[in-house]
Amino acid sequence: MEQPNIKPDLSTTTSRNADLFERAQKLIPGGVNSPVRAFKAVGGTPRFIQRAQGAYFWDADGQRYIDYIGSWGPMILGHGHPAVIEAVQKAVLEGFSYGAPTEREVEMAEEIVKLVPSIEMVRLVSSGTEATMSVIRLARGATGRNKIVKFEGCYHGHSDALLVKAGSGLATFGSPTSAGVPAEVVKDTLVLEYNHIAQLEEAFSLHGREIACLMIEPIAGNMNFVRASVPFIKRCRELCTEYDTLLVFDEVMTGFRVALGGAQSVFAQSIPGFKPDLTALGKVIGGGMPMAAFGGTRAVMEHLAPLGGVYQAGTLSGNPIATACGLATLREIQKPGFYDALGARTRSLVTGLTDAAHQAGVPFCGDSEGGMFGFFLLGTLPQNYPQVMKTDGPAFNRFFHAMLDSGVYYAPALYEAGFVSAAHTAEDIDATVDAAARFFASL
Ligand SMILES: *Cc1c(COP(=O)(O)O)cnc(C)c1O
Repeated sequence: MEQPNIKPDLSTTTSRNADLFERAQKLIPGGVNSPVRAFKAVGGTPRFIQRAQGAYFWDADGQRYIDYIGSWGPMILGHGHPAVIEAVQKAVLEGFSYGAPTEREVEMAEEIVKLVPSIEMVRLVSSGTEATMSVIRLARGATGRNKIVKFEGCYHGHSDALLVKAGSGLATFGSPTSAGVPAEVVKDTLVLEYNHIAQLEEAFSLHGREIACLMIEPIAGNMNFVRASVPFIKRCRELCTEYDTLLVFDEVMTGFRVALGGAQSVFAQSIPGFKPDLTALGKVIGGGMPMAAFGGTRAVMEHLAPLGGVYQAGTLSGNPIATACGLATLREIQKPGFYDALGARTRSLVTGLTDAAHQAGVPFCGDSEGGMFGFFLLGTLPQNYPQVMKTDGPAFNRFFHAMLDSGVYYAPALYEAGFVSAAHTAEDIDATVDAAARFFASL
């Protein structure tokens, strides 16, 4: 393994990163094409990435980082996996996009249906936002109901109806979290507290017969890493069944990331026969290319056009290069022992960081499932968004920058999960833990 190069933080001196950020800010709002990349929460200069290989990427100044975001989840094999590169190179020569069906779309559907038992039919789209937005329309169209339930701290992409936070009381519906979202558009979105069974029961007893779907991140990766409890998911399933509400698992992040069958397969270990009605997938299924999907029971999926009355479409949906990349990725992750090794490596990171912090007397806790992890500068693991909010933001920001200066790239915001790939070695984990230990000791 190459040694991580420990260079001073260049953000305050002249650097290619700083030059690029200056140029970018003149023409691109905030200098970035997705807000979290701007380092607004942690401060400093975003790194402009030039290339990546395996568990590493390199910025415009030639600094190497151990990459724990993996494009926010998709790069489960690490960067530049030879089988994926080969599949993509071959596909590129055959054409970029046709606007007509292809064999690879059929193969992709067959793989998804094989790996995720709750999915009987599937449609491919180009982003997670499209998948969850289309699921909401489908659920409303299939049930003839308008209301939807979501949970505070869960992110389901940036479509209007889902950019909403809890209102002042349970009987009131949510309020928009973004300018430009009219209150009327979110008036049917009920926002509840994650893992709060009594509140869930109350919401269903008040509105159950009007709720088209309940959408949840089964392991929430958009408030760092918070698991839904088994009793909570069990109650979600029971209430949805009782009220003919569709249970939607947003597995855009967790699908093929926490286990081959997604988070739903993890819950099925504790809740026999457990299945959601609909599932949104993204991130890993594209292997780094723009691709996502949603699927579920045949009875519900047949409401989609051209079979049924729920309209949904996409010029680049099922793109031939994206499906080639996704299929090659899905084939690699099905190799025997893949998730055992990935899970063990990820756990070793969380354990290493936790031990290092505790040795220095720093409150710290973490959790992981498969190749997804989270950690908190807190004594105990949070169960919901208000508890996540208790994390010491400035302390996280100091940790983030200390790690960055040591060549370790974590998500630049404390509300984000982290990702380990199959390319991360025990040496990478050791180097990461050593860097963290130096930081904790300095506190
Ligand atoms: C990333 C994410 C989305 C949105 O996906 P995009 O591809 O960014 O539009 C939706 N839901 C969850 C759980 C996600 O993690």
